[in-house]
Amino acid sequence: MKGPRVVMPVLDKVIRRSNFEEVACGYSLAEAQLEASRCLDCKNPRCVPACPVSIDIPKFIGELIEGDLDQAYYTIYDANILPSVCGRVCPQEKQCEQACIVGIKGEPVSIGALERFLGDYSLENNVLRETKIIENNIKVGIVGSGPAGLANAAEMRRMGYSVDIFEALHDFGGVLKYGIPDFRLPKDIVTTEIDRLKDMGVRFHKNVVIGKSITIDQMMNEEGYQALFLGSGAGLPSPLGVPGENLSGIYYANEFLTRVNLMKSHKFPESATPVRIGNKVAVVGGGNVAMDAARTAKRLGAKEVFVLYRRDMDALPARLEEIHHAIEEDIDFRLLLNPVEFIGENYRLKQVRCEIMVLGEKDKSGRRRPMPTNTFKTFDIDSCVISIGQRPNPILKESEADLDVDQWGRIVVENHQTSIPGVFAGGDVVSGAATVILAMGAGKDASIEMDKYIKSKQSE
Ligand SMILES: Cc1cc2nc3c(=O)[nH]c(=O)nc-3n(C[C@H](O)[C@H](O)[C@H](O)COP(=O)(O)OP(=O)(O)OC[C@H]3O[C@@H](n4cnc5c(N)ncnc54)[C@H](O)[C@@H]3O)c2cc1C
Ligand code: SF4
Repeated sequence: MKGPRVVMPVLDKVIRRSNFEEVACGYSLAEAQLEASRCLDCKNPRCVPACPVSIDIPKFIGELIEGDLDQAYYTIYDANILPSVCGRVCPQEKQCEQACIVGIKGEPVSIGALERFLGDYSLENNVLRETKIIENNIKVGIVGSGPAGLANAAEMRRMGYSVDIFEALHDFGGVLKYGIPDFRLPKDIVTTEIDRLKDMGVRFHKNVVIGKSITIDQMMNEEGYQALFLGSGAGLPSPLGVPGENLSGIYYANEFLTRVNLMKSHKFPESATPVRIGNKVAVVGGGNVAMDAARTAKRLGAKEVFVLYRRDMDALPARLEEIHHAIEEDIDFRLLLNPVEFIGENYRLKQVRCEIMVLGEKDKSGRRRPMPTNTFKTFDIDSCVISIGQRPNPILKESEADLDVDQWGRIVVENHQTSIPGVFAGGDVVSGAATVILAMGAGKDASIEMDKYIKSKQSE
């Protein structure tokens, strides 16, 4: 059995509650090599197929041990263009690390932390993977600059295509910029990893809302794009649908996090967009988004922040690390509670009334279903952040009648191609809210189909 994991240092829990500094501090070279030495270099590594983008994990770990850090970085980069991002936010405990053989009798190798170390090493030392591009001068367009669009852009560019990314917002990166807070993912890291795509020749266009500024049809039939990739994500919040939801003081998580992350509302009046949360904040939901909202509220100065979740602690869908950090930061978990009404005074939120739940039989997700009890609890609150899921924005569908979507507004694809010939899609807009690496995997896989489609059209 291998020894224990090398623990990654973290910022002091008292200090970090009042700032947006990154919590996890990363390994030093010595720590990374010590952790890497726990890998058994398996002949049939179970970790690789468990990685949605198939990084050759034992290879990069071996190169790291040998001290060939540049090559170790290249090994990752060839499969994943955002190692510093993914090393920080991927749910490795449910993917590569869950499959790692060392984990059978002890703790698995910290694959994510090693990936992060090498990504950061390359950014700090300006180590760049040279990409030889043989231009084919064929234009392809990408809608959305989140992980799905970025991964698709990199692959198309590597194949020689002339690539344009169109982004509705004024900054690139999708959820990596507007959703995940700085204390988990510093924005300069996202910017630098994206800049590497600019260096490859990918052209980025901001403040362009496809479906409003220009339509899919115009792009394909007037602007000369031979194929499009729709990676427009799932940015539309799901409402709770309870009385009082329109009171002042209630935010949806995406809106709340965008105000802080992208509009820097915590720097008001230096920034133009304020956010008022008061002292008592309830966050509804139990996923990563809810943890981010709760920890952000704490950093904005709220004295009491609690998470309202309708199941128990074991069923929380957020990453274990995020739950652990939230508890350390004094976020309170009020479980088996389902908000049924918001109560206000003069249009301003004052209270949330919750029904007490019990757990029944397992549902389709394999978790025990929360059941109402007809008993209630009421909490005084100043604001509430609702974080119970996101759906795709309907703009693309509204502007393109031929684009098939399902009942939840997700784009329907077959082999990554939508109902419109030459228009492909992937990431959250197809799967619904999922993960960064699954979105990247979809963007990469779609690039293969786009290349095949364009080549078959040319040979007609
Ligand atoms: C707060 C939060 C925390 C999360 N934490 C994690 C985590 O820890 N780990 C993890 O793996 N996943 C996490 N996720 C999920 C993950 O971020 C998403 O699954 C992933 O970003 C999806 O990538 P995407 O490229 O499909 O979409 P997005 O990242 O949503 O990017 C889509 C982009 O398309 C743009 N766009 C939309 N419509 C148009 C249009 N009509 N024209 C032009 N541009 C358009 C949007 O502005 C956006 O920039 C989190 C999500 C949120 C919201
Ligand atoms: S499964 Fe674990 S031990 Fe085996 S190669 Fe992968 S990381 Fe190393």
